[in-house]
Order: sequence, then structure tokens, then C-alpha cells
Amino acid sequence: MTDRRIVIRDAAIAAMDRSGAEFGSGHVVVEDQVIVAAGPGRAPEYHDGVPTERVDGSGHLLTPGLVNAHHHFYQWLTRGLAQQANLFEWLVALYPVWARIDEAMVYAAARASIASLLRSGCTTAADHHYVFPRGAGDLIGAGVRAARELGIRFHAARGSMDLGQSAGGLPPDFAVEDADAALTATEQALDSYHDRGPAAMVRVSVAPCSPFSVTAGLLSGAAELARRRGVRLHTHAAETTEEEEFCAERFGCSSAEYLDGLGWLGHDVWLAHCVHLNGGAIRRLGETGTGVAHCPSSNARLGAGIAPVPELLAAGVPVGLGVDGAASNESGQLGGELRAAVLFARARRGATALTVRQALHMATIGGARCLGRADEIGSIEPGKLADLALWRIDGPEHANIADPVAALVLGALPPLSLLLVGGKPVVTGSRLVGADEATVASQAAAESRRLRER
Ligand code: ZN
Repeated sequence: MTDRRIVIRDAAIAAMDRSGAEFGSGHVVVEDQVIVAAGPGRAPEYHDGVPTERVDGSGHLLTPGLVNAHHHFYQWLTRGLAQQANLFEWLVALYPVWARIDEAMVYAAARASIASLLRSGCTTAADHHYVFPRGAGDLIGAGVRAARELGIRFHAARGSMDLGQSAGGLPPDFAVEDADAALTATEQALDSYHDRGPAAMVRVSVAPCSPFSVTAGLLSGAAELARRRGVRLHTHAAETTEEEEFCAERFGCSSAEYLDGLGWLGHDVWLAHCVHLNGGAIRRLGETGTGVAHCPSSNARLGAGIAPVPELLAAGVPVGLGVDGAASNESGQLGGELRAAVLFARARRGATALTVRQALHMATIGGARCLGRADEIGSIEPGKLADLALWRIDGPEHANIADPVAALVLGALPPLSLLLVGGKPVVTGSRLVGADEATVASQAAAESRRLRER
């Protein structure tokens, strides 16, 4: 029994499916939360009594909803600080602030982060949260609540840190947890929020923070927990030369070799950044099917370098895109990362390094592969969930750009006429459906003030 149907007609379509199907003018039909038809030309007529909404897609490009593979929502509250710092300087400046966050702050930050993601075409977002001050409340639950209200598909990555300064790590001792307590809390987050079923709106991953803030014991324990529970593993890796120097000094190897030795490469793992990889590490990621969340703007903001994306793609690595935390990417808009990915790859390797379609591929099906959802989201195909972005490209910024995909990726980020998550509108006419935007902004500003006053 179908309750409702949406027919989007006369839109340019980039399906991002295996065959690379694109239609200059085509249609997509959604029934309840699933795509049931997609193709060129006119949409079928229906006379079966099912309530049907018809959307005029002329002057638009329809793509899969974008997938954000790496973020730290809570950092929304600390944007614009430590502007000239590299990663380690930036972290050391911000750890003491982050150590004072609480549930109300994380909730407001999550709403603002999600608002920015949705408004830039993102329908699924991973959020890596790794700061858990004692008595701060249910910080994973705060993100889940915000995601449910605004309607985004949400992958909470329960982070952790247990390698404090006194043990040779980067974070101050007051910002880290006990390893056993962190694993117990991670398992509780799985029990409370992880939905393993099809079309899940909330999933939880196991995500200790990084080689310089987590002990080998916690990394191993996390891998054991994730595999016992059949969920995904996530962490940061090879982000900066300073991190690689830390690993060489402490472990006598690169961060990728270190993680490999701890059982941390595999098809159930995705790693943020991977800027500093040698050829052997790139091959290992490809062989093991380990995903990479490429975060071009954040890497540039912190002067970390440019990830070897063409080499990763050539090695068969699933590569997705991420905005990374809002304190190292004040924009928080995933749509803009497509442009950054193309431009930075070409600045590094020349004009053929990355195509606009490869960028869109990373932002959709590539991200879906990182999150283990490639069978459900990331492309426009019958049977997949109706997570769809309808971009308006007939305005003055885009109307004469020869290729609609280039208009989206290289042009200004187009207005979003419609964003669907599981067939439900979450953005219409560039406005959020699930929350008042002025309230989202003022609550985030108030919580940011409260945090800085602590
Ligand atoms: Zn990050």
C-alpha cells in the first residue's frame, strides 16, 4: 500500500549510479520513502488514487542527497578562534574550552550544524563526538534529538580520548576519559541509539579520536567492540606532518602502519583526512577497502596539506567528502566541499587531477560507501531511499554554464528548491522545514556565549 507519491519531472538528472547515468531532462518517482522510477523524458501518468505531488524540475539539476562523512557538530560553538594555528596548536588552544561543554550546548551546536548541512544539500551526516566532560549529560543523545527534529539521516560516531598529556598525548589530562569507561559508554550509545534495520535514520559507530590522543589499548578495544556489535569504526589519521612525526617518534612507524598493526584497516573502517600517506599506505587502504573522508577546506584552513585523492581513487579506496568540525571550517556547508575538492586536487596535480563528476561521486555514493550505506543511499536508482537534492540552476549565477554538474560543482552553490530525506521534504525553497532558522542561529549564539563565559 502506497500512502503518497512525489513525481519530479523535467529536471536534469545526475544519478551517480554504477553506469554514470545522466539525463538532460528526466523524471524521478518516489513512493513513500523509496525511489520507484528514474529515467529520461516524461514522467509516467498515474490514475490509481494515490495522493501524488508533482514537482516541476525544469531549470534544475537533481542529484542524490549529499553525504557528509566527517564532522564535529559541537565545534559550531567555537568557530572563528585560533585562526592562524596548525592542527596541534589549534587543538591545544581549544581543548580547555571544549572541556566545558554540556548537553544544551551540544544540542544547539548540532541544530546549527545540521541546518547548515541541510541547506547545502546534505541528507546524511556523520558526527564524530569525542569530548565527554564528566556530568555533561547525554551528548550523543543531544545530536540524535537535533537530527530527528531537523530530519537528517544521522550517523553518530561515539569518540573517545584516553591519552592525556602526562602519558605523552596531546590533550590535557582533564579532557580525557578512562579507557574502560569510554568503551562502556560507547556500548551504551549503541544500545540506546543504533538502528541496524533498513532505512535507519540513526546509526552509531565506534570512533576513538586519533593516534595522538588515544592509547593502543583503547584503539584495540574499540575495534573489538565494533566487530562484536557489527558496527563501523572511525578515527582521524595522517592529518598533518606533526602527527606523522608523533607516530614515528612514539611508535616507529607512520599513522597508517600503526593503525594497520592494530587491526584498524578494513571494509568496516573509514578514516578522516589521510593527507600524508605514502604509496604503500594508499595501496593498503585500497586492498582492505578502508574508506577515507576527504575534508579539503579544513585541511587547507589548518595548513595541513592536500590529500592524494586521485591516487586514492586509482587504488580503489572508497573516498567520501566531509566538512570536518565547524571550528576548522567555519562554513559548515557540504556543497562547497565539492568545489574545494576539485580545485585543490588540480592545484596539486594539474587540470586533469579530478573531474566535477568524481567530486559529486565522492560527495554521494563515495560517502555512502564510507558509512556502509551504499546499498541504500548515494545514487538515484529504483529501490534506493529517496534522499534527493533539487538544485536550481536557471538563475543568473548558473543559467549559461554549459554543463549542469559543472554548474553545481564549480559554480556558486545553487539554491535548493527541494531536499528530500526518505521522501520527506526537509528543505523547501532554500528554507528549513523542521526548525525556524532565526531560532537555530540565536540559540547557537547564546550557547556559544555561555561556553566562552565558563
Ligand atoms: Zn575531524
